[in-house]
Order: sequence, then structure tokens, then C-alpha cells
Amino acid sequence: MERKRRVGREREPEERFETVRHYIAALLEEGTYSAKELSQVIRIPEKDVCDHLEHLQRTLGKGDRHLEVICASCRHCGFVFKKRDRLTKPGKCPSCRSIHIQAPAFHIEAGYRR
Ligand SMILES: [Zn+2]
Repeated sequence: MERKRRVGREREPEERFETVRHYIAALLEEGTYSAKELSQVIRIPEKDVCDHLEHLQRTLGKGDRHLEVICASCRHCGFVFKKRDRLTKPGKCPSCRSIHIQAPAFHIEAGYRR
């Protein structure tokens, strides 16, 4: 049985912030998005999206869902940025120096992190 949390109707600033995060989580449960795509859908700066994603990554890890990160990769040589901890898009490829980088994408999956 899955328990659903009820969202109150009060609109305090902190709650609005929470609501954005819930919105991001809902989108990521439905599909896969890059931070830029999320920022365009929700209309908040990409940097704020990254902050929310980092928070989701931490909090979801304790529950029965987790944030799946599809690593950024180089469109030129295919280099994959596997060791990157930050969720923002890398500036350039360490292998071929190309700046044509495929941004990391995010998705929320059911189940514990492997
Ligand atoms: Zn490259």
C-alpha cells in the first residue's frame, strides 16, 4: 500500500518551494528531462532546478524511489561524464575538447538504488 501525502492549501513561501519540487518530481516520474527542459517547463532558472534535483537525489534515496541520472556525454566522441557529482552540464569534453555536450538527464524510478 502506498501512502500519499496530502498537500495543504496554505501558500507560505517555503511551501511554494516544496510545491515546485513536487512538480519536478511528478514530471520526472512521467518522463526523462534535462535541467534545461525542466527550467523551461516550470519557468524557473536552470540553477534552481539543479538545486531541487540535488535535494531530490538526497531525499529520494531514503525512500522507495530514486533519482536516476543519465550521465552527460560528448556528442563528438561519445565520452561519458560518469564521475561527475554535480548535476549541472559540463562545459567541455576532457577527451576531445569539444563543447558539444549532451546535458545530463533525470528520471525518477521506483525501487531502491542498486
Ligand atoms: Zn569528446
